[in-house]
Amino acid sequence: MANVDVMDWAKGKIEEIKTLRENETFRREFAGNLAHELKTPVFNIQGYIDTLIENENLDRETARSFLLKAARNTERMAELIKDLDLISRAEAGSLNLRLQSFDIAELTRRTIELSEPQAVKADVALEVNADGSVYVEGDYLQIEQVLTNLIQNSITYSKPGGKTTVSFFDLDENILIEVADNGIGISREHLPRIFERFYRVDKSRSRNEGGSGLGLAICKHIIEGHGQSIQVQSKEGQGSVFSFTLRKGQPPRGSAP
Ligand code: ADP
Repeated sequence: MANVDVMDWAKGKIEEIKTLRENETFRREFAGNLAHELKTPVFNIQGYIDTLIENENLDRETARSFLLKAARNTERMAELIKDLDLISRAEAGSLNLRLQSFDIAELTRRTIELSEPQAVKADVALEVNADGSVYVEGDYLQIEQVLTNLIQNSITYSKPGGKTTVSFFDLDENILIEVADNGIGISREHLPRIFERFYRVDKSRSRNEGGSGLGLAICKHIIEGHGQSIQVQSKEGQGSVFSFTLRKGQPPRGSAP
């Protein structure tokens, strides 16, 4: 081999080794994060069940409260597994898109209705800023998941008496969807990493609220899978604005323009 060829070959090998190392670190980190997330609910469930087994004479009320706690932890684990399944499929590129035109203002109203109990509890007002219909093209269920994650985050990371507003802006070919809150906000140092899986600013706040740390990573995969982008602007202590784009859709035939 000529000298130049050897140099090229060596360079290629160095790149290959670097990629393999990065993949290995990624796998190790992923397994570590996952074990950490599953540890708490599994140990909690084990604790409640062991107590029930070892104390046959527990009064009915205490026994029932232990069972309820075990059930809540099981629910948390099921949520985590659902999110993991979604993110693995997204990263493998096997999230199939079922594109259709739909009214995203209507979908937002429905999503907000489902988040209302959580919002009332947190003393947060939810508002949709749209008079009529706003048609976009996308996978209905995937976009519902994005809206749910963003709206629920705006409640989880709110301040009491807060407000979340969802607005729509007409860009030439696209619609920009904006979810704005006046909650706790995100500091500049954390902002660039917020869409990474398992990345959280305040781990205890997120976990207490049942967060998996995967929500925004899932949102990013879904929106990028649509060939679009999602971003965040935020000021610590003042609030956050998450926005993403979707292609404009067609109203169903026969409906008013
Ligand atoms: P989690 O399950 O922890 O909410 P996400 O991926 O949805 O996971 O969000 C990652 C982190 O980004 C959260 O733990 C939180 O620190 C921060 N975050 C997300 N949305 C908001 C928001 N609207 N306001 C402030 N911080 C937020």
